[in-house]
Amino acid sequence: MPIHVLPPEVASQIAAGEVVERPASVVKELLENSIDAGAAHITIHISEAGKRLVRVSDDGNGIPFDEILLTVARHATSKLNSADDLFNIQTLGFRGEALASIGSVSHMTITSRPVDSSMGGRLQVVGGQAGSLESVGAPVGTQVSVEDLFYNVPARLKFLKNPSTERRHIDELVTRYALAYSRVQFRLYHDERPVLMTSGNNNRREILASIYGVEVARQLLEVLAEEESLSLSGFISPISLTRSNRREIVFFVNGRPVQDPALGTALVQAYHTLLMVGRYPLAMLFLQLAPDLVDVNVHPTKAEVRFKNSDQVFRGVQRAVRRALLAYTPVPFLGIGLHWHPTGMANSPARGIDPTWTIASDLQEHPASSSEINPQEGDAGSYQAHLAGVGISILRLVGQIASAYLVAEGPDGLYLIDQHAAHERVLFENLMAMWREATSPIDGSLKSAIPAQVLLQPVTLEMPPASARLIETQLPALSQLGFQVELFGRSSFLVRSIPALLAGMDPAVALAVIVEDFEEDETPLQAETEARLIARVCKSAAVKAGQALSVEEQRALLSDLEACQSPRTCPHGRPTMIHLSVDLLERQFGRHGAR
Ligand code: ADP
Ligand code: MG
Repeated sequence: MPIHVLPPEVASQIAAGEVVERPASVVKELLENSIDAGAAHITIHISEAGKRLVRVSDDGNGIPFDEILLTVARHATSKLNSADDLFNIQTLGFRGEALASIGSVSHMTITSRPVDSSMGGRLQVVGGQAGSLESVGAPVGTQVSVEDLFYNVPARLKFLKNPSTERRHIDELVTRYALAYSRVQFRLYHDERPVLMTSGNNNRREILASIYGVEVARQLLEVLAEEESLSLSGFISPISLTRSNRREIVFFVNGRPVQDPALGTALVQAYHTLLMVGRYPLAMLFLQLAPDLVDVNVHPTKAEVRFKNSDQVFRGVQRAVRRALLAYTPVPFLGIGLHWHPTGMANSPARGIDPTWTIASDLQEHPASSSEINPQEGDAGSYQAHLAGVGISILRLVGQIASAYLVAEGPDGLYLIDQHAAHERVLFENLMAMWREATSPIDGSLKSAIPAQVLLQPVTLEMPPASARLIETQLPALSQLGFQVELFGRSSFLVRSIPALLAGMDPAVALAVIVEDFEEDETPLQAETEARLIARVCKSAAVKAGQALSVEEQRALLSDLEACQSPRTCPHGRPTMIHLSVDLLERQFGRHGAR
């Protein structure tokens, strides 16, 4: 094939590939334009997760009639004049590419009226071909409708994830902008259903509450710091509030959301030694630097930036976060007798659900500063080897301490068993077995029912929008587990029954526990989903630390644990037991070699 210049439609589709990856990318570009236009109110309508329609309306300064056509020309922008300006960018946009790109892969309609015009203009663009510009009546501001995204790029359509994932990307994006631009009122609708409404009154905690729920929002710690050339504000989680991945770590640099693994690492390091391995904080941090200290022109969707003095920025973030963490009265996790204090804990519940449990597991992870009793190391090896031969052998119950741990004598020394983790494991294996029994191995349909308790009075539950979407997608799986839940209003649910295992538990708490952490998987396999749901049910049903058990109950728990296939960890991977070998005891007592 001889070298030839590509036809403009092809060239612009190639360029669009960089900017428009999925419906959320369209939402991002349109939102940024509205923010750049100084809008005070931004309304976003989505249908069919953005595949059918993304419409963003604002009351910003509008586009003059004779400039509307230019908005869809490539490299046409009102935000940049010369290359020098690139180092002094005060707006979110500057590349002049978004509308051209979006227009080339959709049916796009731009309607706009500046405040000083009596009429507005409307332009339709179909697959990159601009139609004629019409004069129309329109409110002040701009509305951009993007329909049938990727209708002419079937390959892209195929790459889109399922609607709930695409919707989640949009929700996440909009909530992040709503947080960053808390003086702007955002309204987000999915298929005409309101999903997020912010007040625009600059109250970030209020927005956090609508994302994470009131309880989590209340716990988040505020960060406010001036560091050399950097000013920093935002929220971080206390050490009692963690996630199993970094998804909830969000940075904005000069008002732009950025993905910067190094910034994330700086943040996580500030929590060093304070979090369990594999747990991550939540954070939304807004960094403000002089524009000439950040290069924003290093990424097509402007998702990455380059700092002139990156070390200084990372140190600044670390110092500010560490200071905020230390200023907050830390929950002590190394001391003795501080743990399961029901009254003391009431004020700082971890995730608002089961404080004692989280604190207890923190203790395991930092066992009195001695790594020797960490079950993952050292002596555990011999115990594991022992298990691999014979299965778990009989543990002799010695007693219960602190209403949280069972003490037992085993094959080689002392075993401390976390009663909650152990019970979780026992319940998990039982319920999984029940589940397998009840479910057809062929098509996953329900052969028989898992016992459920029907509530005398159905309970209405109001959920934060993100959790509501999630519950919606899991309704069938939940019903198989015994949760009869119906959507009732836009993010309320009617709970008719709960699993019999959770009988007596507050249905709101039961459901909340189960949904938590669930957002994490992109598209979890169905079987995995169920295992995780079951793990969460067990977490809520298991006996708590702080619960005194009768000797009979203690014995039963030990022998149930012994019968488990994986007795050493709870369904969430935390250890159920700590082993202190006779050898270790002898060393600790200075008797080593005396035997
Ligand atoms: P960029 O934002 O990088 O300039 P875009 O393609 O996103 O490029 O937009 C092109 C131009 O269209 C912008 O520079 C701006 O002048 C105008 N524009 C786009 N959206 C809006 C809006 N919502 N309100 C006012 N002007 C807008
Ligand atoms: Mg733009």
